[in-house]
Amino acid sequence: MKEILCEGCGEATPNHDAINFTSMDQGCRLLCSRCFNAEVARLSGLESFDNIRIQPIGITDCAGETHQFHFTQRLLGNMVALDAVELREESPDGYRFQMIGDPEGDSLALLGRLVEKIRRTLSVKHITDDDRHGLQIADQTVRGRIEGDYSGAERAPVIVVDGREISWEDFGQMLMTFEGWQFKLEIRDISEEL
Ligand SMILES: [Zn+2]
Repeated sequence: MKEILCEGCGEATPNHDAINFTSMDQGCRLLCSRCFNAEVARLSGLESFDNIRIQPIGITDCAGETHQFHFTQRLLGNMVALDAVELREESPDGYRFQMIGDPEGDSLALLGRLVEKIRRTLSVKHITDDDRHGLQIADQTVRGRIEGDYSGAERAPVIVVDGREISWEDFGQMLMTFEGWQFKLEIRDISEEL
């Protein structure tokens, strides 16, 4: 996992947990989320903010595979955003979740709600993959996330379904099973329920 040194506390911090923070007196600094939150809490008068450090949690999906989630809590003035990212070496873009809460609320309760949301999502698989049929849509609904592939000359869309990256081309092939059918596409913010 790539790490940076927080310019606040000096601790090594994973890349996904680092945020640029600009203040009048100290300019722009790269901070860990806890130092970032402490600065925002001080500036917003939110001294009661529950600035906890959350250890990674492994959550098992319906196929028995365990996914490691890393959590980052960010205080953004009038709201707090709690992110869960599945980091994997071979494919850093696995599952990703977000829950929005009240800055004066209980951080552990917010974490509990986010873990429940992760469990609900991991209990369903939208695609199947076997030697005979290849990648297929399991039922008639696909839930996923839109990402980009920047490795080629032109950026290409990639979708992440069941915590797995699927190229736009492969997804097109999967849709061919339903040639002649119709579909409905709805786009939602990362923090919303799908
Ligand atoms: Zn720090």
